[in-house]
Amino acid sequence: MSEVTSEKVKVIVLLAPPGGGKGTQAQKLVERFGMTHISVGDVLREEVRKGSALGGQVKEIMESGELVSDELVAEIIKSRLTGKAKSNGFILDGYPRNVAQAGYLTSITDQMLVRVINIAVAEDQVVKRLSGRRFCGKCGKIYNIYFSPPAVTAVCDDCGSELIQRSDDTEEVISERLRVYAQQTRPVLDYYRSAGSYFEVDGNWDPGNVHEEVAKVVGAISG
Ligand code: AMP
Repeated sequence: MSEVTSEKVKVIVLLAPPGGGKGTQAQKLVERFGMTHISVGDVLREEVRKGSALGGQVKEIMESGELVSDELVAEIIKSRLTGKAKSNGFILDGYPRNVAQAGYLTSITDQMLVRVINIAVAEDQVVKRLSGRRFCGKCGKIYNIYFSPPAVTAVCDDCGSELIQRSDDTEEVISERLRVYAQQTRPVLDYYRSAGSYFEVDGNWDPGNVHEEVAKVVGAISG
């Protein structure tokens, strides 16, 4: 009797400190490999923006730089991962953020092909990236006042709208987010290092160079 085989769904877990470029790299992978992007932070920010019950529950926690509860993000992840992948698998951006979440992810992906890419970035870099980050309130274009400023201060080059700052990109909240990262998320790197499906890229370069390194890992994955 011949065996029926089906290709496993790929899951790329992007890890990085806050401001490490997870969102930017995820977007580039979506464009290049047609993968489905799951950003827990984006999902939560959208709920806050809509003023939903869930948004009301998480707003203050997010604004303080702390993590929202594992149960709450588990539901977001599970419903999306078990939904239909558009095509070439999923990119997880911002999940897992602690070892308990990593264990949960392992338990729901045993039939999937999971690969973890850590984007390593120096702390002084991430502080500048976060504190300098601005985005257009209308078209969403992202700037950095240190590295890629708009032509006119606080005005979008493309649509002329006002640039705004994420409420958790202020200096006080940035230091809390980095503290939470060091305490809760860094141990996730060891969890995956010992599991043997872990890759690391140097994230201190510009986004295009980092993308080439990340894409090499993604392109080489086979089940
Ligand atoms: P991010 O956009 O990934 O920087 O996430 C913004 C905020 O959303 C974080 O500071 C947390 O408050 C919350 N958040 C995002 N992902 C998670 C997660 N996996 N677990 C708990 N909270 C999260």
